Amino acid sequence: MSESKLKKGTASVWAGETGRFLSGATTAPIVNSVAFAYEDLDEWYAVATGKSEGHIYSRNTNPTVHVLEEKIRLLEGAEAATSFATGMGAISNTLFSLLGPGKRVVSIKDTYGGASRLFLDFLPAYGIKVTLCETTNHEEIEAEIAKGCDVVYLETPTNPTLKVVDITRLSLAAHQVGAVVVVDNTFATPINQNPLSLGADLVIHSATKFLCGHSDAMGGLLCGNVELVKKVYQFREINGASLQADPAYMILRGMKTLELRIERQNASALKIAKHLMAHPAIENVFYPGLKSHPGHDIARSQMSGFGGVMSFALKGNYDMVKAFLPKLQLVHLAASLGSVSTLAGPPRTTSHVELTEEQRALLGIPESLIRYSVGIENVEDLIADLDQALSSIIP
Ligand SMILES: *Cc1c(COP(=O)(O)O)cnc(C)c1O
Repeated sequence: MSESKLKKGTASVWAGETGRFLSGATTAPIVNSVAFAYEDLDEWYAVATGKSEGHIYSRNTNPTVHVLEEKIRLLEGAEAATSFATGMGAISNTLFSLLGPGKRVVSIKDTYGGASRLFLDFLPAYGIKVTLCETTNHEEIEAEIAKGCDVVYLETPTNPTLKVVDITRLSLAAHQVGAVVVVDNTFATPINQNPLSLGADLVIHSATKFLCGHSDAMGGLLCGNVELVKKVYQFREINGASLQADPAYMILRGMKTLELRIERQNASALKIAKHLMAHPAIENVFYPGLKSHPGHDIARSQMSGFGGVMSFALKGNYDMVKAFLPKLQLVHLAASLGSVSTLAGPPRTTSHVELTEEQRALLGIPESLIRYSVGIENVEDLIADLDQALSSIIP
């Protein structure tokens, strides 16, 4: 059976791993070799010049890392894939290789904090024009794109209020002016959303989150057509933000259970979101799976599941958050997301710590907001935990 025909649950396990490994090993070996030796100089030359397949030096390619690139490539239905030391490595290498002095990028205000820093501080310093639009104002984004740009950079759903942007609609607008569409698909994962099939040109993942799934390794991935991926890969080769074999193996191992975890997290997050909506201590719940969510219709049309991340605002102020969070027993109060264990934290101390209260308010982030990344625990236990912590703060 052709690897590209495998359904996602099967591809999570087998994609990139259908061949034979060293000595018949049934899992991809961790090849911690910096260099790869050749006896035949002609063969070495052929590999070094890209005429034959093979590995030369692990900053460029590595057999373990290659298996991971194949797995994400097949899960995203892409022609090519490459990898980076972190998700930010993927984002910064992509933007710096596609943009340059005089070029213009159009994006949204709600991108991941690190991407936002690139847009506000680093790219403008290189003479790159940056326009950040209201995240859900599609007319404004289309109007900015129509003025001419080189890259349209999107993320959906966004952090921390799970805003949803229409990938198909904005890709059409971008292609009319010849811009490359890049989508950060970290929150959705390839199980819930495939941006390339919706019209995007490149898809980025922080593999640190759901793909690895265990909060114990970092990595970044990029998928798209051969030409674009090669352009970014050639920059990364020299920039040096390469993924190592050890974390690549950890991510590969995590990805075998990707569909299982995501299906569970989709179901639990929806159940918890509905439960919290009806709770008297809760002001608002942000989850694209809820009919009341402003992005629900777009999410339903472009996602097959709504993901494991949600956020909710308590009735009250930040003091309520400080009283509530330490009462939760089944969470790590930590900055990451997408792990087997539930993680929670306020944007005020995590993703949006650099912003002032007014700036957070402008982004629609209440001071009493909590981001909650649902793990794979039993959902009844998670609901009971939330309930006991909420009861303890109701005056
Ligand atoms: C965490 C995250 C990143 C950055 O990934 P790192 O692996 O931490 O560099 C990028 N985008 C999104 C949406 C993220 O959640």
